[in-house]
Amino acid sequence: MEHVTRIVIIGGGPGGYEAALVAAQLGAEVTVVDRDGLGGSAVLTDCVPSKTLIATAEVMTTFDSSYEELGILVADGAPDAVDPARVVGVDLGKVNRRVKRLAIAQSHDITQAVTRAGVTVLRGRGRLGTGGQGLDGSREVLVDQADGSVESLRADAVLIATGVRPRELPDAQPDGERILAWTQVYDLEELPRELIVVGSGVTGAEFAGAYQALGSNVTLVSSRDRVLPGEDPDAAEVLEDVFRRRGMNVMGRSRAESVKRIGDRVEVTLADGKVITGTHCLMAVGSIPNTADLGLEEAGVAVNDWGQIKVDRVSRTSAPGVYAAGDCTGVFMLASVAAMQGRIAMYHALGDAVQPLNLKTVASNVFTDPEIATVGYTHADVSCGKMDAVEIKLPLRGNPRAKMQGIRDGFVKLFARPGTGIVVGGVVVAPRASELIHSISLAVDNNLTVEQVANTFTVYPSLSGSTAEAARQLHIRKREGAGS
Ligand SMILES: Cc1cc2nc3c(=O)[nH]c(=O)nc-3n(C[C@H](O)[C@H](O)[C@H](O)COP(=O)(O)OP(=O)(O)OC[C@H]3O[C@@H](n4cnc5c(N)ncnc54)[C@H](O)[C@@H]3O)c2cc1C
Repeated sequence: MEHVTRIVIIGGGPGGYEAALVAAQLGAEVTVVDRDGLGGSAVLTDCVPSKTLIATAEVMTTFDSSYEELGILVADGAPDAVDPARVVGVDLGKVNRRVKRLAIAQSHDITQAVTRAGVTVLRGRGRLGTGGQGLDGSREVLVDQADGSVESLRADAVLIATGVRPRELPDAQPDGERILAWTQVYDLEELPRELIVVGSGVTGAEFAGAYQALGSNVTLVSSRDRVLPGEDPDAAEVLEDVFRRRGMNVMGRSRAESVKRIGDRVEVTLADGKVITGTHCLMAVGSIPNTADLGLEEAGVAVNDWGQIKVDRVSRTSAPGVYAAGDCTGVFMLASVAAMQGRIAMYHALGDAVQPLNLKTVASNVFTDPEIATVGYTHADVSCGKMDAVEIKLPLRGNPRAKMQGIRDGFVKLFARPGTGIVVGGVVVAPRASELIHSISLAVDNNLTVEQVANTFTVYPSLSGSTAEAARQLHIRKREGAGS
């Protein structure tokens, strides 16, 4: 009888469910165990809800800027309660109900797709069985179910994709009303009047920008010199400048020590003793991997000092037959990377052709206004000598379409190898940079040269014209360099 490989996946986020689909297509018998619902945090609390909220924020920003710049008039507008100068406002309760509806619908769609593919979905908390490796070489996964029963599943290979949860500071415990983790903001019925966002990484910056656009008075507390310390420095500078210009109070080099609720207000105490107050505080100080109580140590699955599961480029852990994918590995905390790691794990486990994970072609985006999209090698890689590349930055200010649209902030930046002109990276800071980065991703992924990018037609007028123009200028520079 033909042996069917049994795969058990713990965690149903992008790392888990995308792996399940691939494994089922490759003929395996697949079970996904998830405690919250398929789609994971990506769909239920993080990625999808935040981008849905940002969709409303984006309309507000467009309106605000059009009002001044493009000559839009609103007749008989009732002033906004938070900011009387504004004539449009948001009904946050309605926005949040839409956010939650969309998230649940997407989780439902994923469950249907996965079930249709023949995957068994089990609701419960999964962990590696204490029995370890079975006599037949299989492993055991135990599932703690809501009714208190424990189900034991045998697997030829196990994938752990349990994600992360928000990190909490001991003296800043979220209460879900005034002191909030990012997973709790969608229960708010009213817009926070004065919102303090602690943490200026991607999550902090996205929420700070969104609530500012929705009408809150926002203070952004950053422990670093500037916002978005992990991003391209020129891009972070543009964003910080835009934030300040729109009235956000950006506090650099300010570490929050504690957050207290006092009645209907919050008090944030900084490391230098300064106290700032607001009506709400959103904590965005990083995340903790969901890797405790999974039986990892007993199973021989190694973790690093932060509790993230150590994996190689085909998602293998230190225990044979156990793979891991997604945020719980800390490799690159993006839904797209989680999904790719999960698929790679299944190709490897099921003996299919497998390409090891290549992080140098990952495109990522910060969903602020303007957006910041990045692919390939970065300014930091070039300045520390990791990559020998020339760099060009072309402000959008000179782009004809940008002028027509009233866009003043942003740029296109390209990195290319000095000899061959092969494009190795890029940054776009612009509205919808997440869409504009794709042409640079294609160039990076396919080793295209600046000449090839420059000679590809772009629409006139278009923001993507700036990508071609940046490539053209780098190409000219390369030719002049060769001629001199
Ligand atoms: C606010 C925010 C916005 C983001 N926006 C984006 C974005 O725009 N684009 C992007 O690419 N990425 C974004 N991310 C990152 C993205 O959400 C993660 O990279 C992605 O969710 C990782 O997927 P995953 O499969 O590893 O884990 P998750 O999506 O976290 O899924 C893990 C699942 O495992 C379940 N689980 C945990 N432990 C167990 C257990 N023992 N048994 C059973 N089930 C368990 C959890 O309940 C969860 O359902 C964002 C993150 C945050 C915080």
